[in-house]
Amino acid sequence: MSTNLIILGPPGAGKGTQAVRIAEEMELKHLSTGDLLREEVAEGTELGSKAREFMNRGELVPDELILSMIAVHFDGQDSRGWILDGFPRSLNQARALSDILREKGIELDNVILLDISPETVISRITGRRVCSSCGAVYNISSMEGDRCTECGGELIIRDDDREETVRRRFEVYRKQTEPLIEYYSGEEGLMLKVDAGAGIDEITESILDGIKEA
Ligand code: AMP
Repeated sequence: MSTNLIILGPPGAGKGTQAVRIAEEMELKHLSTGDLLREEVAEGTELGSKAREFMNRGELVPDELILSMIAVHFDGQDSRGWILDGFPRSLNQARALSDILREKGIELDNVILLDISPETVISRITGRRVCSSCGAVYNISSMEGDRCTECGGELIIRDDDREETVRRRFEVYRKQTEPLIEYYSGEEGLMLKVDAGAGIDEITESILDGIKEA
């Protein structure tokens, strides 16, 4: 049996953190379009240089770039299933994903919606620091020192985590990604709404409980 999931929510809701945990717990493939794009940027590829300006402005990278990147990394056939983190992010992408899944006869089991207020999100993101070498995520409220406790790397602010960009990313979420909630609400039992203002462990538990019940 495989489990196929999408995790959805505004920037700073904890999609990445929770997706990693759920993937580990359920042995799913974790696919983050944000991570893939940051790798492309770091490697200085053509896609990376095209994507970078959109990312730094807090805007969505155009659908055709995202869809061609997805085609390389995702075929939906992983034996235990997958969790998509940061994709789809527009109605166009959601429809494209539905087409891919329909064509391959693959079923989507749950869309996890991380529900959180804009105020909580803004303070979370502007306090976020990431390790420049291994990508581990920290928050200034709970950091011990200015080095990564996993690998000793330097902790930095992601370019798109600056307050002005965060506000723009939130607006973009409202306009372009929020309509997906309605898109996925049609199917009974698909949407799993979780309070993302809770503690990290609590959120993981709610998600795992919700998935098991589904
Ligand atoms: P994330 O790490 O998911 O917050 O993504 C960081 C940035 O990468 C976003 O603000 C977008 O600029 C870009 N990005 C990630 N995923 C997508 C996507 N599915 N469609 C368009 N842009 C994306």
